[in-house]
Amino acid sequence: MAGIYVHIPFCEQVCAYCNFYFITSVKWLDDYINALCIDIAQQIQTFPLAYETLYFGGGTPSFLKEKHFELIYNTINKYRSIDSFHEINIECNPEHIDLAYIQVLKKFGINRVNLGVQSFDDMDLKRLKRNHDALQSLNACDLIATHFDNFSFDLMYSLPYQSLADWDKNLSKVLEFHPNHLSCYNLTLEEKTALKHQMSHQLKGSTDESLSFEMFQLLHFRLREEGMIHYEISNLAKLGFEAKHNLGYWQHKPYLGIGPSAHSFIDGKRFHTIAHVKHYIQHIYKNESVTEIEKLTDRDFFNEILLLRLRTKEGLDLNTLPQKFDALKTYLLEFFNVKSPYWICDENKICLTLNGWFISDHIISEIMLDEAEFEKRRN
Ligand code: SF4
Repeated sequence: MAGIYVHIPFCEQVCAYCNFYFITSVKWLDDYINALCIDIAQQIQTFPLAYETLYFGGGTPSFLKEKHFELIYNTINKYRSIDSFHEINIECNPEHIDLAYIQVLKKFGINRVNLGVQSFDDMDLKRLKRNHDALQSLNACDLIATHFDNFSFDLMYSLPYQSLADWDKNLSKVLEFHPNHLSCYNLTLEEKTALKHQMSHQLKGSTDESLSFEMFQLLHFRLREEGMIHYEISNLAKLGFEAKHNLGYWQHKPYLGIGPSAHSFIDGKRFHTIAHVKHYIQHIYKNESVTEIEKLTDRDFFNEILLLRLRTKEGLDLNTLPQKFDALKTYLLEFFNVKSPYWICDENKICLTLNGWFISDHIISEIMLDEAEFEKRRN
């Protein structure tokens, strides 16, 4: 199984917490889609894999109009039947969702929608500088829940000034729509974001670790009561509704990422595309390369396996580690074969507990090896 990720790097506003690559002018959108189609055609021919998932991510993919979907689908259809994709997912912003747009999505066979709600509280949305209000979110949730079986809502917790009761209220609200999938992110103050700047200049309002952990626990236990499985640190779903495309990332399945700043992982190699819309368009029109291969050493790959697998409920099964890492199993067992509230190590399988997930960045940084140590232990 392989996936295609199509990046739509345009946003109307700059959300206060966001450090993704995007631009706020849509004047390049039509040109961009033309260039993107040329790129898609070239990449699918260069990497003729068994693609099964298609993911429109951003930025703001719900900027795409019918004519854009038509161009993209016609391109893909020349090399792969669009019907062979089991999951076609789009990320949408609440302010773009109305019945007419739902009909466009349906027309193009989109069978999974990811809605960026973040919070149902207008003050939170203002602080996050989102481009929608709570009412728009409620209307969008209602329309999506009415017209799709497979959909997911994004929420954030540990927001400035957010209490445990506020988070509980957000969870109650979202559950009214009976979602089969939720992505819930613990707010991270990323470097060079407005929120980071603001929070580092005023100590008030930030959430301490213990409150964040209570919110994380509340999320886990409330949603478990609703029959949802916490299958990845930030993702919960009813059985059978896990996000197939994202599962591919966590399981190191190959994927093709198209568009500025997108990454690909194919044949054990990682590529990234230049993070600049105008340059991307110019290079594509001149038939020049827009991707660069990244040096992925064995150590990088090993560390990445730890990072991604330990985020999932399935954890890390040492029997599935590539043979070249056989000697490192002893190292991992030495580390994890100690009784701990943070993990369970059963035979050859290592899973983080809920407490472990919450401090997973710390655990993972403890076990990651530097180059010299990696070489010493693998031989
Ligand atoms: S809409 Fe998404 S990509 Fe755009 S600024 Fe907001 S969080 Fe970032």
